[in-house]
Amino acid sequence: MTGAAGFIGSAVARRLRSLGLGRVVSLDALTYAGDVSRLEPAGGEPGHRFVHLDVRDEDAVLELLRVERPRTVLHLAAETHVDRSIDGPEAFIQSNVVGALRLLEAVRAYLADASDAERSAFRLVNVSTDEVYGSLGPEGRFTETTPFAPRSPYSASKAGADHLMSAYAETFGLPIVTTHASNNYGPYQFPEKLIPLALGRALRGESVPLYGTGDNVRDWLHVDDHADGIIAAALRGRPGEAYLIGGGNERSNRDVLNALMDLVDELAPAGREHRELIELVADRPGHDFRYAVDTSKAKADLGWRPAVPFERGLRETVAWYLAHREWLASVTKGRYALERLGTAQGPNASGGLA
Ligand code: NAD
Repeated sequence: MTGAAGFIGSAVARRLRSLGLGRVVSLDALTYAGDVSRLEPAGGEPGHRFVHLDVRDEDAVLELLRVERPRTVLHLAAETHVDRSIDGPEAFIQSNVVGALRLLEAVRAYLADASDAERSAFRLVNVSTDEVYGSLGPEGRFTETTPFAPRSPYSASKAGADHLMSAYAETFGLPIVTTHASNNYGPYQFPEKLIPLALGRALRGESVPLYGTGDNVRDWLHVDDHADGIIAAALRGRPGEAYLIGGGNERSNRDVLNALMDLVDELAPAGREHRELIELVADRPGHDFRYAVDTSKAKADLGWRPAVPFERGLRETVAWYLAHREWLASVTKGRYALERLGTAQGPNASGGLA
């Protein structure tokens, strides 16, 4: 698994361990967003091995494939924060597009020497986002056949990777399954993203920024449901196919922050109504209005469905962050002070790989 020390990769590693689904080899470049402590619950050798490696290091990735001979490669390594992609797109092209190319070349070389049995069992799961489809109005949903229309440097770089994946599946016959998931939330998310950022600032008594009018809509997916979807795609996905994964929880950003602040009132009372901290700020440039995904194909073909209702998931997520304040402090120390990003002011301000 690439990007395994990230928010979603580590959830997949923990899930694979609890399901007893074999040995996991985790690879990660440990950018500002990577944190190996997320992998501690996934255990160590012999069931789990962590390798500090940049996915763009094609020779080292090929060597690792030849030593470990995996049946499945889950590709999650990426720069992932839209606001950082506005401040500095270069790192996104490097990790997301060049990274995908180097991984594809390593996998192609590995399979060329593999046995017939290894080749026929092998799958590469390309973990992508619903953001490649662009922005929706108030109605309708994305399906697997919706044309790509990315609008941020982040989504453009993910779409670029997806195009390379499709091209390698067609041209070189690589057995690739792609997933496009909606907005994730849950434990261990880096606090630059909406929910842990708002929570972190509210716990410090600081203003909680709400972009634009607060009416932008996302479909919230618990990270464990996403992990199950990725595993289902690895086990049952058909090579060459894409699957949309979403929680079926469409909420405006305003509704999410209101619900979050009410939970903080209840679980960490501070003698004030935390909703009062919510402050409208200038919108993100090019802010997509709404994402929504039709997940019927994943449900029918992968036998997957989301299991975590949003209200329960949000409550458990708030409780997790309250019980892990030291993790929140350690993962941000020297890296990120919960400040505003993505105003298109700073040249190349991204904290990722150059
Ligand atoms: P994250 O930022 O928490 O983790 C990404 C991980 O990739 C980090 O550990 C980082 O160190 C690593 N990484 C970055 N560049 C690398 C490189 N060149 N080589 C090796 N490792 C590198 O992100 P996440 O939220 O866990 O997202 C994981 C994947 O899921 C991404 O591909 C993302 O596009 C996709 N995705 C995320 C969401 C979401 O809501 N977070 C939704 C759909 C899809």
